[in-house]
Amino acid sequence: MNHVQSISPRVLVTGAAGFVGSHLCERLLRDGSTVIGVDNFYTGSSRNILPLQNHSGFSLLQHDVSMPYWVNADQVYNLACAASPKHYQSQPVETMKTSFLGGLHALEIAKASNARVLQASTSEVYGDPLVHPQPETYWGNVNPHGARSCYDEGKRSTEALFYSYRQLFDLDTRIARIFNTYGPRMRPDDGRVVSNFIVQALQGKPITIYGEGTQTRSFCYVDDLVEGLFQLMNCDPDDAVEPINLGNCDEFTILELAEIVLNLSGSKSEILFHDLPSDDPKMRRPNNLRAKERLGWKPNIPLKVGLSKTIDYFDLLLSEKGHDNSLVASHPQEQACFDLVE
Ligand code: NAD
Ligand code: UDP
Repeated sequence: MNHVQSISPRVLVTGAAGFVGSHLCERLLRDGSTVIGVDNFYTGSSRNILPLQNHSGFSLLQHDVSMPYWVNADQVYNLACAASPKHYQSQPVETMKTSFLGGLHALEIAKASNARVLQASTSEVYGDPLVHPQPETYWGNVNPHGARSCYDEGKRSTEALFYSYRQLFDLDTRIARIFNTYGPRMRPDDGRVVSNFIVQALQGKPITIYGEGTQTRSFCYVDDLVEGLFQLMNCDPDDAVEPINLGNCDEFTILELAEIVLNLSGSKSEILFHDLPSDDPKMRRPNNLRAKERLGWKPNIPLKVGLSKTIDYFDLLLSEKGHDNSLVASHPQEQACFDLVE
């Protein structure tokens, strides 16, 4: 592989207006990179990238990544894809197209630009795991014919595509298997557990636990994740040949999470139990050894600290005068408010 990384790299970030993407763009701009964001605003929001609006190093292309496009770049972070089960399941065919074709187009851009390219994959590639915690060597236990399949198999097929481009074209690919991440800029109507519980607690509405709340997740604060993505992109190519788990190893039951959110927010919301959705993984925790050894990365922000910051964010968001869901874009038609890249 022959890479010339410029001192101030031109970085393409797909999914730039999303929760993780917007934090990543901020981190890259702080580092002195020029950032070209791409987003179709399916789940993203122009509000998320407002802080970047006046930054001379940032521009945005409003585009659906499942359609071909061209940006010249030194590095490509491919994050575009709805991540919450509520949203990726509501448009399952779009989810698969975004994942696979969006991945293909990111790879083609990287190949033509001689860039390195990072895929935002997911712990969902392990499905409902039979090995715990999950190391990268585990092949997973995924249902190919169910509610989560569009996302899980979309991400798995994109990993396979990245593998093939590396084999065929010697492309410098990197794969981050991201575990549950939370923080400011999640959508209040996102449907994911952290945003749901916080919004419900702040509004005094019942906390909705699916199943008995005995299923587990391991929650990573967004700043930790973004640092991991950055380090994965910038590490020695030999250390990035195989996928790398990025997540926090502290594991909680969903019932424990609900109690922590109630405590931190001082809410008196009651807890209500609902049916467990199909194929909901029973446990999830990353084995982080590879990230530690190859990137020197480990998460630093404990759950209660990260949750407190996230509660403050939602508290402010919900208290804003006239707040309703129009503050978060709910449809691709949202107009971008930045200079569009030609
Ligand atoms: P998000 O839904 O907030 O962000 C996704 C962004 O991609 C949004 O801005 C959305 O508008 C955009 N997008 C979706 N389809 C698109 C398309 N066809 N063309 C252009 N833009 C499109 O989700 P997130 O939590 O920020 O996740 C970012 C990435 O990280 C996703 O690829 C997700 O699969 C992955 N990931 C996230 C988590 C997590 O816990 N947040 C866990 C595992 C993997
Ligand atoms: N969950 C819940 N109540 C909610 C939202 C989610 O009990 O209001 C559960 C969900 O069933 C799952 C866990 O919380 O077991 C994490 O859900 P999320 O959608 O955040 O992420 P994922 O299932 O993709 O890990």
